[in-house]
Amino acid sequence: MATGTALFDLTGRTALVTGSSRGIGRALAQGLAEAGATVVVHGRDREKAERAASEIAASTGRETHVAIFDVTDASAVDAGIADVEARLGTPDILVNNAGIQRRSPIAEFSDEDWNDLLATNLTSAFLLSRRVAKGMIARGSGRIVSIGSVQSQLARPSIAPYSATKGAIVMLTKGLCADLAPHGISVNALAPGYFATELTQKLVDDAEFSAWVAQRTPAGRWGDVQDLVGTLVFLSSDASAFVNGQTIFVDGGMTAVV
Ligand code: NDP
Repeated sequence: MATGTALFDLTGRTALVTGSSRGIGRALAQGLAEAGATVVVHGRDREKAERAASEIAASTGRETHVAIFDVTDASAVDAGIADVEARLGTPDILVNNAGIQRRSPIAEFSDEDWNDLLATNLTSAFLLSRRVAKGMIARGSGRIVSIGSVQSQLARPSIAPYSATKGAIVMLTKGLCADLAPHGISVNALAPGYFATELTQKLVDDAEFSAWVAQRTPAGRWGDVQDLVGTLVFLSSDASAFVNGQTIFVDGGMTAVV
């Protein structure tokens, strides 16, 4: 078994990061490539995903690939993973990152928004994990990391459905661990605090809310997407060989302190 910094080396591993055409997923894909992995950049918009993949390849010298499918569509997920497997085999690392946010006072929350949140933030993680589990079980190894949120622990007005999807990710992670750990597969979640991306643009633009985030976070600031990379590399590598079923909060202390 590797020791020292070699524990974190992902050379020779393949990683699929859903929703890595931009935002947090883009930074996570870049970080995995920097650690040595061949990454598959994924999204719905081919042009955006291809641009991200070539930028990652150019800056890291690593091989990158692109996968385009809607994570809410079961047959598209099956076909998308089959296509990745035909090119690279079953990914060694799956990062369930694609997600959306919808905000509205609960009395006006629409059925459509509720269904979209469940499908994109929760059902997708089930569909992707179920599909790659087949190949991972056959191989006897694999890493699945799902992106949670501080909102799985801390409630805020107008986002109860989003919080429900992220709370469910915590238990999906434990349940998948129960099924898959005996097959040499680790399943963990990485739960970010507040990070400036398109998903949080409205919050960033709201000066009062933005100041509240910095004040409510013991570290005194919003997260930078780079803050998430080390934990993902850890959870994807031999360094975390005996860590399974856990949700790790990367939130500057937000969930630790009232
Ligand atoms: P962004 O909106 O910046 O990026 C979302 C990504 O998901 C895009 O690549 C998008 O692809 C993809 N995506 C969305 N819906 C689908 C779909 N149906 N099928 C395929 N791809 C899809 O979001 P963030 O980077 O901010 O968020 C990433 C994850 O982190 C989410 O799970 C979010 O809940 C979580 N998170 C974010 C926090 C934050 O502060 N930003 C805090 C806590 C958790 P396309 O470009 O094609 O639309």
